[in-house]
Amino acid sequence: MPEKKVRVRFAPSPTGGLHLGGVRTVLYNYLFAKQHNGTFILRIEDTDQSRFVPGAEDYIFGCLQWAGLEPDESVVHGGDYGPYRQSERKTQYRQYAEKLVAGGYAYYAFDTPEELERMRNDHKTEQNPSPQYDRSTRNAMRNSLTLPPGEVQSLLDAGAPHVIRIRMPENEIISFTDMIRGEVSFDTALVDDKVLLKADGMPTYHLAVVVDDHLMQITHAFRGEEWLPSAPVHVLLWKYLFGTDAMPQWAHLPLILGPSGKLSKRDGAKYGFPVFAMNWTDPRTGELTEGFKEKGFLPEAFINLLAVLGWNDGTQQELFTKEELIEKFSIERVHSGGAKFDYEKAKWFNHEWIKKLPVTHYLPEVKPLFEQKGITVADEVMLEKVMNLVKDRCHLLPDFVQQGAFFFAAPASFDLDAIKPKWNSSKALFFSEVIRTFELAALWTAPELEHNFKEIAAVNQLKPGEVLLPLRIMLVGGKFGPHVFDIAELLGKEETIARIRHVLSLL
Ligand code: GLU
Repeated sequence: MPEKKVRVRFAPSPTGGLHLGGVRTVLYNYLFAKQHNGTFILRIEDTDQSRFVPGAEDYIFGCLQWAGLEPDESVVHGGDYGPYRQSERKTQYRQYAEKLVAGGYAYYAFDTPEELERMRNDHKTEQNPSPQYDRSTRNAMRNSLTLPPGEVQSLLDAGAPHVIRIRMPENEIISFTDMIRGEVSFDTALVDDKVLLKADGMPTYHLAVVVDDHLMQITHAFRGEEWLPSAPVHVLLWKYLFGTDAMPQWAHLPLILGPSGKLSKRDGAKYGFPVFAMNWTDPRTGELTEGFKEKGFLPEAFINLLAVLGWNDGTQQELFTKEELIEKFSIERVHSGGAKFDYEKAKWFNHEWIKKLPVTHYLPEVKPLFEQKGITVADEVMLEKVMNLVKDRCHLLPDFVQQGAFFFAAPASFDLDAIKPKWNSSKALFFSEVIRTFELAALWTAPELEHNFKEIAAVNQLKPGEVLLPLRIMLVGGKFGPHVFDIAELLGKEETIARIRHVLSLL
């Protein structure tokens, strides 16, 4: 039998910002699809209208675009299996739910919120503090299993509000092979009768995910491990509706762990690191959650660090291009245990990518950062040179501003305290001589300037070490920056001399 064409999907609910773990799910889907010349689909799972948040869908697409993980089929990209938004597929789900009822695998339930509440109160015991709608309680409820058929029909005819629930088998062991965890089994006795179709006619996630994975011919479904407990429900729905042979192969991805358990937005706020892909402002509260993009991560670094959060290729290699990941990724090598997120390590990845990529690649992102700080960059060639000079010192893109601002604007203040204690007239004389020599310099290159500077120091019986720090502070303002003569070369003759003069006048 010819292999089925690989079709995978990422199925977010548009309820808010896209968490690190979500982007990693996207990435693994994407890599798997590309590796198998398959198709990567993005399906919007918006059946829970009460959790819908305006703007969240556009935001998700924005994140994927930034990370370079664009789907092949989606609301935006089109495709033959649409609509790709579940709310627009609403009318197709009821027929499957009805089919389940007809087969005896599901039933109508007419219980009101008050009745459900009463059931929870009545059945509450110490051992069972939150009773569920399941084999132990369903017989005491108002549903098509307990009511006479005639009454059920008249309720339906009268349009009485109702849901459709799965009837979980009493004693069955449901097993399937997870691509990461191997064989996993569940006892159906422990699973409740989940709602499949809601009173408003919308399917729940459980019904929609199975129906759409079938209709969209999904071959592999990778999702977060929080969905593992729901898997037995999905396996049963596959069995009842389409046959388990047609079922996608599942992989439940491990959690990403923070300093204290599952990595959360709160961890990010507490320790000052982003957990979302891009900045997200919740339209309901106005609360802003920081993103990796705005923090100054390169997309290349972001996907690299995500890829190795819970996966390796069996070697010590840590830096991977997207092309290498497509070649080397394998879902079976994803660890089943949680992967610990380490922000310092994340910054190390970004640092490596800042060094690895030509600066021109990310100059368009860096330039506006200067402008945001009120520093005009008129000359991009100059910016490129500056970036090349300081990139070894940058972990995040805004570091370029911190490390490079003094090339475009004279420092606003100088760390004179670092010079003053050891300042004397012979040093003042030395710098006047340096100015004279620099003014006459025909060749303005770092080696030439360094040579002249050291020669004058020797003549004045000064050790270069005694005058290099003052020179740095004169040019940069503080005790930082690359090789000081590289700085002078790039600043140019006029500016270098002007800055030395200025600080001399302050001393
Ligand atoms: N809509 C689910 C979520 O928000 C998707 C889970 C799945 O991929 O099956 O995580």
